[in-house]
Amino acid sequence: MKLLEDRIVKDGKVKGTQILRVDSFLNHQMDIELFGEMAKEFKRLFEGEGINKILTIEASGIGIACIAAQTFGVPVVFAKKSPSKNLPDNIYSTKVESFTHGNIYDVMVSRQFLNKDDRILIIDDFLANGAALDGLISIVKDAGAHLCGVGIAVEKAFQPGGSRLRESGIRIESLARVASMSEEDGVTFVTE
Ligand code: 5GP
Repeated sequence: MKLLEDRIVKDGKVKGTQILRVDSFLNHQMDIELFGEMAKEFKRLFEGEGINKILTIEASGIGIACIAAQTFGVPVVFAKKSPSKNLPDNIYSTKVESFTHGNIYDVMVSRQFLNKDDRILIIDDFLANGAALDGLISIVKDAGAHLCGVGIAVEKAFQPGGSRLRESGIRIESLARVASMSEEDGVTFVTE
């Protein structure tokens, strides 16, 4: 999606060789007009899939997922990362290794909000090694729901998550696919 790629080039900051910071428009301050355009693109890509629910993970996926959900006209469920007194006993739970922090944490979704009749679109801000997606996919499987696909804002295509998950048969649509990045030369994108 050219609009997102142009914004990454303009306002993204490469940190080292692995981290792309997009906190001025995507995951700290959020450009809702941009999110609206991204939502329209997700809607176009997944048209006809009968999606009835969007699943994401806190925190950075929530904003993008909410604007997308408004365009799809469906609710959003977000997986919680920390144990909360508000969570019922009846939960789907799995472990995820954090890309940005390196630690392992539990993610949880109440069984009340996911079931076998659901047709799910997973949405997240970044795809790197795919650990966050592995966690969400395993929760969808536990619920017996149908996974229609995954919508990602920024995929770092030089990291292995995208190819691994596509090879396993999961449909992944990324709006910007970073081919390479460095502090000196900036960001280049996969062209297809
Ligand atoms: P994965 O689980 O695919 O390795 O990493 C995905 C998660 O790590 C995303 O939900 C995102 O929060 C975070 N992440 C991974 N790479 C980056 C990055 O380059 N920049 C930012 N801002 N977050 C990232």
